[in-house]
Amino acid sequence: MAQNSLRLADQVEAFVRQVVIPYEKDPRRDSHGPTDDLVFELREKARQAGVLTPHILPDGSHLSQRDTAMVLKRSALSLLGPLACNTMAPDEGNMYLIGKIGSPSQREHFLKPLVSGRTRSAFLMTEPAEDDGAGSDPSMMKTTARRDGRYWVIDGRKAFITGYKGAKVGILMANSGTTEKMAATMFLIDLPNPAIEIERVLDTIDSSMPGGHSVLTIKGLRVSADHILGEVDKGFQYAQIRLSPARLSHCMRWLGAATRAQEIATGYVCKRRAFGKLLIEHEGVGFQLADNMIDLKQAELMIDWCADVLDSGSMGTVESSMAKIAVSDALFRVADRCVQVMGGTGLTQDTIVEQVFREIRAFRIYDGPTEVHKWSLAKKIKRDHLEKSA
Ligand SMILES: Cc1cc2nc3c(=O)[nH]c(=O)nc-3n(C[C@H](O)[C@H](O)[C@H](O)COP(=O)(O)OP(=O)(O)OC[C@H]3O[C@@H](n4cnc5c(N)ncnc54)[C@H](O)[C@@H]3O)c2cc1C
Repeated sequence: MAQNSLRLADQVEAFVRQVVIPYEKDPRRDSHGPTDDLVFELREKARQAGVLTPHILPDGSHLSQRDTAMVLKRSALSLLGPLACNTMAPDEGNMYLIGKIGSPSQREHFLKPLVSGRTRSAFLMTEPAEDDGAGSDPSMMKTTARRDGRYWVIDGRKAFITGYKGAKVGILMANSGTTEKMAATMFLIDLPNPAIEIERVLDTIDSSMPGGHSVLTIKGLRVSADHILGEVDKGFQYAQIRLSPARLSHCMRWLGAATRAQEIATGYVCKRRAFGKLLIEHEGVGFQLADNMIDLKQAELMIDWCADVLDSGSMGTVESSMAKIAVSDALFRVADRCVQVMGGTGLTQDTIVEQVFREIRAFRIYDGPTEVHKWSLAKKIKRDHLEKSA
């Protein structure tokens, strides 16, 4: 890791511990997540502390994935930290994608306000299961985009769109292909737009994302051809560019949150007594925290390994699938053990441990459920075997 990135990570951690953690009991939140009022107040503090959007440097370049891992992990020692530092999903992945694919004018119009932390964004891909739309299998996409002169007209429905409510920038994927051959195109859109209606905001297990997760109806949305992100019909290729690093950045952040849960659980069991001694001195408790220590280290190593692969210029599709499965499962075990050793307190909102548990449960579904990643790894194993034996 570069020395200056290490210094930056230390700065981010100090900011999160000293400034952000005291806000954890701030009442400005609803059942979906913190309000924008709270988010933008925290961002102002991050700006003053020099830790706003720390993974994107002033010249617009991005830290290496390896350095990003350290910074994002530290930013997530509080669940409010990534929102404060602007390292949160979906903005972090959206900024990465627009930075890589966007034209200079698109970067000026859509990326600049995001990097400045003054707006939020959403990524619109998934569709409602009841429509048999895109979910685990994005090729089932039902939302259509048809050309109309200099414009494209988009119709359909989307679901689970994180942060849509309150977002100013959207990246929308729609089927621009024919009835015989589907193809996806990505569109950049200014939000809100009267052609997109929020049907409802879903009540989900997690509660860290401002705006929650929306179900949307899109009727006759007109998007100028200038706002196509990259080229027509190349949406799935671009999704791959976004997905591996975005998936890994979730691993980085949830590693930070699980590390904090372990700190809190450790504090509890080193103070609380039962049957004449401290809880930590009971083997059944101590071993759970020891298992956590191992899972946390294995998660960190897996993230660093995948980050190195991405930094070498590879798409890291296989490695990011492996990392996503291993890290989300390991961190879920960590959070579950933290809840367990804290007894009833672990289930209350007196600490963030119960929320970390809920958030990491959701992470085992989004950015590709565990089984879908395993299924694609199995396909690779078969492919490699057939190639070798041919
Ligand atoms: C909190 C949260 C935030 C999200 N944010 C966004 C967002 O901002 N933008 C967006 O576009 N989407 C978002 N999503 C959607 C998310 O990406 C999808 O939920 C995910 O891709 C799975 O799709 P699905 O829910 O339709 O599940 P389905 O496709 O219905 O799959 C259900 C289950 O079937 C199993 N399964 C599916 N395929 C296979 C297979 N090949 N082999 C074995 N088992 C399989 C898996 O266990 C899977 O969990 C979010 C979801 C959540 C929960």
